[in-house]
Amino acid sequence: MNPRAHQVKICDVIAETADAVTLVFDIPEDLAGRFSYAPGQFLTLRVPSERTGSVARCYSLSSSPHCDDRLAVTIKRTPGGYASNWLCDNITAGSMISVLEPAGACTPRSLDADLLLCAAGSGITPIMSIIRSVLTAGTGQVALLYANREPSSIIFADELERLARRFPERLTVTHWLESGRGLPTVDGVANLLVPYRTRDVFLCGPAGFIDVATAAAAQLGLPQRNIHQEKYHSLTENPFEKTALAPVRRATGDSATVRVDIDGETVVLDWPRNRKLLDVLLDHGLDAPYVCRESACGTCVCTVRQGRTRMLMNESLIADELAAGLTLACQTLPESDDLHIAFDQ
Ligand SMILES: Cc1cc2nc3c(=O)[nH]c(=O)nc-3n(C[C@H](O)[C@H](O)[C@H](O)COP(=O)(O)OP(=O)(O)OC[C@H]3O[C@@H](n4cnc5c(N)ncnc54)[C@H](O)[C@@H]3O)c2cc1C
Repeated sequence: MNPRAHQVKICDVIAETADAVTLVFDIPEDLAGRFSYAPGQFLTLRVPSERTGSVARCYSLSSSPHCDDRLAVTIKRTPGGYASNWLCDNITAGSMISVLEPAGACTPRSLDADLLLCAAGSGITPIMSIIRSVLTAGTGQVALLYANREPSSIIFADELERLARRFPERLTVTHWLESGRGLPTVDGVANLLVPYRTRDVFLCGPAGFIDVATAAAAQLGLPQRNIHQEKYHSLTENPFEKTALAPVRRATGDSATVRVDIDGETVVLDWPRNRKLLDVLLDHGLDAPYVCRESACGTCVCTVRQGRTRMLMNESLIADELAAGLTLACQTLPESDDLHIAFDQ
């Protein structure tokens, strides 16, 4: 069992639209510290399956740590999808579910900065957490572009309207409805974003929408370092299932040496040059944080304090973070002989 997984109770299920529900969690007092989170982070839920034992799926927290007592995720049915439909059909108030602690790096650095937020469909969930956090606990201004198929599919429509009335100087909401304007286009989105081109940008939703919004931001010349994105996809790994420990590989001439600070301890390990850091840590039975193992979720982020490394793939760290020495353990190989890595994020 993953040590970051906990059985928790669902205390409420709220129907948001015909095909989206919010699950509210009752986190026990003794786990409160482990479930503290930042707006923009997500939970990973274990969904039972007769076919595979279970599958794991990530769902962003739609609640705000600044104004909600309880954590909540909002799930939209994916047509033909397994886990989203299972959760919508089977979870009721009182259900117990296995959940990994909050993770993810798609979070604003400050609630006082002005932000441009773009979401499509269920991509609104982390964005809603960010909006409510900024408006209630920060001073930033927020512009939201929100794409949906039709008016009835807009999740949180009433709450967004209420917030826009309550904070008319600070929140601007622009809806893009496919029923009226067709699918979002690069030119159309770019036109709407012009007044906000100097802001930090958060993009969230299915890959097709992220690609259009990223191209629109690039067309406007927004610096890459200002663009943060959460591309929705289903995990292929299952962090709930116990992975058998691989035999610890003995040092060979083709290994580096790495000192790793993790969970208040320091360990020194041989790091075979062709083996990713996360795999080496898990081989040694260390409790390294991870969810997707595909560079997308940012959960295994750590800092290179000494030595040179390289990443095979990077879908979550931006240029400033790379310059500060951050790396993703699931994709990192050693280049130097002696390295020091800290899990300090
Ligand atoms: C960081 C992050 C945050 C996200 N946040 C949200 C969010 O806030 N809200 C939201 O709605 N979505 C969110 N998503 C997307 C979400 O994680 C899922 O991708 C989405 O719900 C679709 O999952 P699904 O299983 O329903 O569909 P699919 O993944 O499309 O389901 C099909 C898959 O399930 C497998 N399958 C089918 N039947 C079975 C079975 N019986 N047993 C086992 N496997 C089976 C198939 O082989 C296929 O691989 C997020 C994704 C990420 C990465």
